[in-house]
Amino acid sequence: MGPQRGELLRSELGISTFEDLLYHYPYRYFDRTQLSKIGHIDPNAEYIQVAGILVNIFEEGRGPKQRLVATLYDETGRIDLIWFKGASWIKRSLKENERYIVFGKVSLFNGQYNIPHPEIEAWNSETAIAGMQPVYPTTEKLRTKGITNRSFAKLTSALFDKVNLTEISEILPANILSEYKLCQRAQAIKWVHFPDSEEHKQAALYRLKWEELFASQLMIARIRMQHTIQQGLRFDTVGDNFNDFFKKHLPFALTNAQKRVLKEIRHDTATGKQMNRLLQGDVGSGKTIVAVMSMLLAMDNGFQACLMAPTEILAQQHYESVGKLLEEMQIPVALLTGNIKGKERKEILKGLADGSIPLVVGTHALIEESVQFKNLGLAVIDEQHRFGVGQRARLWSKNDVPPHVLVMTATPIPRTLAMTLYGDLDVSVIDELPPGRQEIRTVHRHESHRSRVMEFIKTEVNKGRQAYIVYPLIEESEKMDYESLMAGYEQVKIWFPEDKYRIAMVHGRQDSALRERNMQRFVSGDAQILVATTVIEVGVNVPNATVMLIESAERFGLSQLHQLRGRVGRGGEQSYCILLTGNKLSKESVQRMRIMVATTNGFTIAEQDLAMRGPGDLYGTRQSGILKFKLADIVKDSAILEQTRNAAIQMVAEDPGLIKPQHQALKHSLLEQSHQSHWSKIS
Ligand code: ADP
Ligand code: MG
Repeated sequence: MGPQRGELLRSELGISTFEDLLYHYPYRYFDRTQLSKIGHIDPNAEYIQVAGILVNIFEEGRGPKQRLVATLYDETGRIDLIWFKGASWIKRSLKENERYIVFGKVSLFNGQYNIPHPEIEAWNSETAIAGMQPVYPTTEKLRTKGITNRSFAKLTSALFDKVNLTEISEILPANILSEYKLCQRAQAIKWVHFPDSEEHKQAALYRLKWEELFASQLMIARIRMQHTIQQGLRFDTVGDNFNDFFKKHLPFALTNAQKRVLKEIRHDTATGKQMNRLLQGDVGSGKTIVAVMSMLLAMDNGFQACLMAPTEILAQQHYESVGKLLEEMQIPVALLTGNIKGKERKEILKGLADGSIPLVVGTHALIEESVQFKNLGLAVIDEQHRFGVGQRARLWSKNDVPPHVLVMTATPIPRTLAMTLYGDLDVSVIDELPPGRQEIRTVHRHESHRSRVMEFIKTEVNKGRQAYIVYPLIEESEKMDYESLMAGYEQVKIWFPEDKYRIAMVHGRQDSALRERNMQRFVSGDAQILVATTVIEVGVNVPNATVMLIESAERFGLSQLHQLRGRVGRGGEQSYCILLTGNKLSKESVQRMRIMVATTNGFTIAEQDLAMRGPGDLYGTRQSGILKFKLADIVKDSAILEQTRNAAIQMVAEDPGLIKPQHQALKHSLLEQSHQSHWSKIS
């Protein structure tokens, strides 16, 4: 390859060595045996592959509307291929009256099927290997410079002529290869580029995905190992505070799930190792009581405990509910937030430093430098996704021996994702709601039903209940969203005139004091309706609120819709969630609405969300690189993920430092990889 094209490969794809090229795997294959006839295309199939002769290549329109159209025909029919971008260079690369194989998504326009931006490849025997032709990830720029899919195939094929397969050394130990029936690495790499059969292709993919996932699980297992050798505080007694509370002051019987989680926490904190536990429980599942009882356990062992919430309002609410629970036991609980200043603040700081305050609830204010504890034994963090890893680390430094950490989240994380993202934390799950909860009724209504929806809200409000009306506010369309929020607010005021109803509004453009004040008006029951953006999403508890109206619901993701819905159904009354959407919806939006109407189970929803959107977009992980695998997909390959996790745990248990000779190749390869990834950032 000449220096210019070489430089392009380097700058576009980071390929500069033979090894880089070998590891530049195809992401799919044109399988020439799997062809649809153009006349019998299934328009509902996600993707289709057809082959035929290309004719009528021409450019249409001008400027931004310019596009390239070409027609592909076989003996059963014809279909248009359309490119909206890069028309001229694609045109140059195509030849009329030649045979092509085409892969893409069918769409319907003006009653005719077409394939927008298909993958297209000339049908020649040169690159086809037993019907399977690799398709490589590439960039538009490379294509315009003539480095096509076929160029990659040629390069790689030439490379295999040059290198001896035995130079590609095995990194997995023999016992793993045999236990999991994995083919040799060199073989897999050859087959992944040029499979000579479906069977070999599968074997290669399985082996290479396994290797990728195993590498990540092995790193997690090693971080986890480091946690477990980290010395921790020992809570070896269950004393009066815990027992008194359990026997005399519990306002209800614990659910089995709550009991189980408490047992897990008691077990962890008694081992003498630091606890790092993630507690997942759907909204309303009763995580607070678990936190409170864990804090009592810390007290019983002579330690202080803190509960940290992401916002002032949540801290305030926690403070009140913890205070109420412990009222009769006369345990002092302090509140420390940014709003608490002057003398009051000084006294709290003093009480924390001398140990006279055993329990404290607060916000980020708790981790400021000036806050010193006498002996912090347990830190509970509510709603983990608002707290960064660095902040957790600062909590640790509040004691010579790091306190136990319990992170609570109402955002259920599918197991596969948890294994990858939080694999170093132990996970507890409250998978059971307290008894007697009424299921929230969820309906999907179109814009044309708006007046009936508003009438319904009115009847609820007139019964003395409260309602949320939530608008989307997305960064990319912030200005327009803000305008529609304001327009919506005006609309709501027409339905609920100010001389009869009290409405509060909160959104991100208000300064935080005003926002808090408005929110507080709703929390206290003064305002009957809260018009809001998603700033109310997390944790707020207003049991009297029975209606959640979500405007433009099609613009929210599933997990977000579920979080919002969780704001109602927290009291004894029947609650309702109304998903209001435009009249015309995409297929995916319809599916999301269906799922929301069909289930209130957060885990089911999280799984579906993950399956629909893929892991990349969820939980802000897109940029983190943690979930970037070349071949593996943690949703589709969850079975492999499970295997690699087990294998990794076993390997680290047997050889924590990976010092055995059979683990050297692996260790070497991991070290190389860890320079390029982001492992230090997790948890
Ligand atoms: P979340 O998990 O969303 O933080 P909370 O801890 O706020 O849930 O609990 C939600 C509501 O359920 C609270 O009003 C709480 O008092 C109540 N609750 C919690 N556990 C039980 C239980 N075992 N039986 C009955 N009610 C419970
Ligand atoms: Mg909560």
